[in-house]
This record gives sequence, structure tokens and C-alpha cells, in this order.
Amino acid sequence: MRPVSSWGRLSALPHDVVELSDRSRIAAELAKRRPGIAYGMGRSYGDACLNPEGTLWRTAGLDRFIAFDEASGRLRCEAGATLREIQDVFLPRGWGLPVLPGTRFVTVGGAIANDVHGKNHHETGTFGDHVVSFTLQRTDGEQIASGPGERPDWFAATVGGLGLTGVIVEAELQLRRVPGPWLDTETIAYSGLDAFFQLSDESHPAWEHAVSWIDCTWGEAVRGLFLRARPAADQQRTWRGRELAMPLVPPLSLVNRLTLKPLNRLYWMLNQRQLGRRVEHYVPFLFPLDAIADWNRMYGPKGFYQYQCVVPRESGPAAVREMLTAIARSGEGSVLAVLKTFGERSPQGLLSFPMPGVTLALDFHNHPGLEALFERLDAIVAQAGGRLYPAKDARMPRALFEATYPRLGEFIKYRDPGISSAMSRRLMGS
Ligand SMILES: Cc1cc2nc3c(=O)[nH]c(=O)nc-3n(C[C@H](O)[C@H](O)[C@H](O)COP(=O)(O)OP(=O)(O)OC[C@H]3O[C@@H](n4cnc5c(N)ncnc54)[C@H](O)[C@@H]3O)c2cc1C
Repeated sequence: MRPVSSWGRLSALPHDVVELSDRSRIAAELAKRRPGIAYGMGRSYGDACLNPEGTLWRTAGLDRFIAFDEASGRLRCEAGATLREIQDVFLPRGWGLPVLPGTRFVTVGGAIANDVHGKNHHETGTFGDHVVSFTLQRTDGEQIASGPGERPDWFAATVGGLGLTGVIVEAELQLRRVPGPWLDTETIAYSGLDAFFQLSDESHPAWEHAVSWIDCTWGEAVRGLFLRARPAADQQRTWRGRELAMPLVPPLSLVNRLTLKPLNRLYWMLNQRQLGRRVEHYVPFLFPLDAIADWNRMYGPKGFYQYQCVVPRESGPAAVREMLTAIARSGEGSVLAVLKTFGERSPQGLLSFPMPGVTLALDFHNHPGLEALFERLDAIVAQAGGRLYPAKDARMPRALFEATYPRLGEFIKYRDPGISSAMSRRLMGS
């Protein structure tokens, strides 16, 4: 048994960690110590990848590339391969992943199980839209080969299925041609939510990636930076990432009621120098937080919650206004508040998170009294017809999950009885 945390560092409870590295032995390993849950890079913020006092199947050792077809861009790889490894090997060959979340330190299995999205959802949808097929290992020994055209019901259950339908052993992904690692980017300062929605609308389809950072301490008056980018033609430039790290866990969260406003102001001021157009390497643009290893330690020994919701476009502006007002009034908040819109694409998975609308994400250091704010935000989200993102969640009430994921009943049939996580017990009762 050893202590394991997820990205939010809310707990470090003992787990019986089993390293999976040989795909021919996975069936035997899963049969041995059930129930368990797969663990990729642990970049989920809450309890989707945790199973305290139980088995955790770590997939980091399942990291081989199996086959690549240079003509079609199809890659077969093991499920523990990371998006970073794929990008590093195939980008120089002119191919890249169509969907990249805000960190590259995510496994293929984790990206499928949360059906992750990137800053280009309007254009490329979610990760599941680019999965050609996968092999799923059930704990009873059955292996299921599935894809959109082969046993599609298993595909719909497993994409976004929170690791609960089986362990994904390997997957075939459709990469897309990319001109190189460079992006034409633009950073625009704005104030007011109307300006945010106008910028979002006018950015598509000309700009592939769009996202906004907001200073949530301003309430609905919101000021923010709108960042957009599109692939730039191949450039003769070089880029070397700086390797910074948060060396230790401070005794108290560095983000708290006292530092919240100054930190947001500082971020705003530092970024004034970045306004306008420039060519940027895709790594700092798409994964700004990856620049500081272990940045999650800054929230101190008690960790932090991320609250990420989506609300439909029609009710979105009013709901986001209400949420920002509630957050500002509570005196809580985040330095890393992100607002972005999703495109009109329905994702593949029965439990996939995205829906056409607007998504808001904020981090809150863990301390007593937060739950009242979360309950207020939950009520606004539910009223607006939205939902919370399980990849980021550690506390949503079961009733909210049931009410906002209408295909949960269909999903349950595909669960593997030998798989259970802290999240599945919290949200589904087992
Ligand atoms: C800084 C940061 C930025 C992020 N930005 C985004 C973003 O922009 N968009 C977005 O969608 N997400 C984002 N995320 C969340 C992250 O992409 C997801 O949580 C992702 O699923 C993590 O992958 P992982 O490999 O770490 O999986 P884990 O966190 O270890 O596990 C996630 C889920 O996948 C399951 N799983 C893992 N491997 C397998 C397998 N082989 N078979 C079956 N199930 C498996 C686990 O059981 C668990 O349910 C971000 C996270 C961080 C830390």
C-alpha cells in the first residue's frame, strides 16, 4: 500500500498500486485484485482515478507505440502513452493530435476515459472524435475490440466512461497533418461578458484555438484576456522550454483571501506586455501551466478544488453572470479562472462532459466554508441546464450528477463489476 493523490492533492490515502506494463499480462493482473481502477498520470483533479484502500492499476508502463501509418496518420499505441510522447515523436513528421487538453501530461487512456477537450472544440470536438478503435480488457477476462463502427455501444460507454467499463489496453488514433509547432497568436484585453461572447463568436472559424482568462474578483463586470491562435506556416525558429518547478509544499495555500486580488492584478499587469499578435510555439500557448512542474503544490497541504461547469449557450450569459457575482460576493476565487465556449458538436460518449455552450473553470484552495459557495454554483448550473466536469470534480452531489447526465441509465449497463473508484461510489453508489 502506498499513498496516492490526484492533481487536486485533496487526499493521499493508501492504495494497493499494481504497475501494468506488459499488455499480454493485463487480463491476469486485473483478475487478481478486484475491484480496482485504472490510473494514468493522475491529472484528474478529484477522485475519478482514486480507490483508497483498494487496487489501483497504474498504466504509465504501458507506453509503447505499436504501429504508425505514415500515409493515413493512424497511430496504434498502448493506453499509457502520453500525449506529450505522441506529439514529440510525430510532430516532426508532420502529424499531431487534433485534441489537446490544457496539459500534455495525460495518457491516451485517461484522455479517452474523460473524453477530454481542448481550446479548439469548435473545430475538432473531443478526444473521442479521433479514436478509431480501442481494446478494452474486462476484469472477467473478456477483451472487447470497439470503435465507432464496431460494437459502437461499448465505444459510447467507454469514451467519457471514467474508466468504469474496463481497462483500455491500446487504442488506434487518427492524427492530423500539421504544418509545424508554431501558432499565429493574438492576445486581446477586454472587459464585460458581452465583449467575451462577441470575441468568441467572431473568432470562429478563422481562429482554431480560443480561450479566455478572467479576473474573477471583478464579479460580472469581469475583465479578461482573450487568447486565440491558429497554425502558422512552418517557421525556421527554435524553442526551448524553461524548466521551472514548485520545489515544496508551502505550509499554507499561496492563493487565499489576502493574495487573491493582488495575484490577479499581477497576472493582468504582466500580461499587458503580451497584448497583440505574435508567433508562439504551441507548447506555451496550449499548456501554459506545464511550464511549472508541480504547480499544484502552491495550494498548500490541504490541496484545492477545481470547479468546472458548462452551461448551454442560451442560458449561458445569464448563468455565468450569476456565478461570477456569487463568487465575487463570497470573497473566494481563483487566479486561474478560465472561460471558453464549446462548439455545436455533440460528443461521442454517454457521459461526455461538453455540450454546446460556455464553460467556466476556477480553482479554490481547500478550506472550511467553501461548500456553501459550491452549492450556490451547483444550483445556478442545474437551473441553466448545465453540468459539472467529472475530470475536475471531487464533491458534486450524486443527485446533481443524476439530474445533469441524462444518459447515466444507459451507461450503467456497461460497467465492469470488478471496477470501482471513489468517484463511482460517490456518484453511482458502487
Ligand atoms: C493543468 C491541467 C489542465 C487540464 N486541462 C484540461 C482541458 O483543457 N480539457 C480537459 O478536458 N481536461 C483537462 N484537464 C484534465 C485532464 O485532461 C483529464 O483529467 C485527463 O483524463 C487526465 O488523464 P490521466 O492520464 O492523468 O488520467 P487519470 O487522471 O489518471 O485518470 C482519469 C480517468 O481515466 C481513467 N483511465 C486512465 N487510464 C485508463 C485506461 N487505460 N483505461 C480505462 N480508464 C483509464 C481513470 O480510471 C480515471 O477515471 C486538465 C488537467 C490539468 C492538470
